[in-house]
Amino acid sequence: ESQLNPNYSFENFLEGDSNRLARSAGLAVAAKPGGTSFNPLLIFGGVGLGKTHLAHAIGVDIKDKYPEKTVLYISAEKFTQQYIDAVKKNNRNDFIHFYQIIDVLIIDDVQFLSGKTGTQDVFFHIFNHLHQNGKQVVLTSDKAPVDMQDIEQRLLSRFKWGLSAELQNPDFETRVSILRNKLYRDGVEMPEDIIEYVAKNIKSNVRELEGAIISLIAQSSFNKKEITIDLARTIVEKFVKNTKREVSIDYIQKVVSDYFQMDIDTLQSKTRKRHIVQARQLAMFFAKKLTKASLASIGSQIGKRDHATVLHACKTVDNLSSTDKQFRKYVEDITKKLSV
Ligand code: ADP
Ligand code: MG
Repeated sequence: ESQLNPNYSFENFLEGDSNRLARSAGLAVAAKPGGTSFNPLLIFGGVGLGKTHLAHAIGVDIKDKYPEKTVLYISAEKFTQQYIDAVKKNNRNDFIHFYQIIDVLIIDDVQFLSGKTGTQDVFFHIFNHLHQNGKQVVLTSDKAPVDMQDIEQRLLSRFKWGLSAELQNPDFETRVSILRNKLYRDGVEMPEDIIEYVAKNIKSNVRELEGAIISLIAQSSFNKKEITIDLARTIVEKFVKNTKREVSIDYIQKVVSDYFQMDIDTLQSKTRKRHIVQARQLAMFFAKKLTKASLASIGSQIGKRDHATVLHACKTVDNLSSTDKQFRKYVEDITKKLSV
């Protein structure tokens, strides 16, 4: 009914520096839904870092503490689909009414509402109603409100009313605890050096971290092989290779242009406007750093420039990031977004 998954509990959500703020804010909200200044609570972060898990944990904990409260977890995608169906069937008012009487509304992946003005509009009204009545709203998103695109300003400003808490890549210690906890729950034993090997090599995504362990267990049991470092290495390599393949020059241009809220055409254009030039230079710098492409090839893919321009861009970024604090922040932010 509430669509909550009891396995996604706080207990199973291991704490670390990377998630402490979001996790504590979640606990605070669960202790007093609608009664904290964290309303809405927006949890944001990259793929596989625990947004959905934490969103469920909040709901599960509230249901536990306040069984009489109605808690609903829904993905923004499903919410959108429901709304479209309601409009088709002339049930728009019923739809709105249904959502307005919920005590705790948890919407996962609100970035999905980008560009969907009808759904944004209806959500705006539902949000206002819930908020005014002291009901709790919890949202997750793959980016911070400032970085969201194609979401109406009035909705974005609502998103910023409460607390936005980021889930970052977990550090090594946290990755090890996550794996140990998972193995413990599944009743599987694994040598410590293998756990550490996996945690050391899969850094940017908890889902992949777990995936690697699951395939390791499966491989060893299907093939009746012992779990050895060699087997771990083969599996980890597969995961790491798959992740690396995603960092293409296209992807870098997408991340950089999203970060500066411009489109890729602007990033590639001939303009000499400073912020666009800088965005382009950053894209070139990251392409050099993260891909095996030659300077010439990077130049031709980023707005048909020559290799000298790319070389100059890389030097400029190096210089600016050691002299200009704001610029250094750009480099750090984008590095994080590219999860390297
Ligand atoms: P997202 O929604 O951000 O893409 P998920 O919530 O689906 O990520 O998390 C991916 C997987 O990683 C899930 O199986 C989740 O249980 C696990 N996970 C993420 N963070 C943690 C954590 N801190 N402790 C334990 N498991 C975690
Ligand atoms: Mg998710």
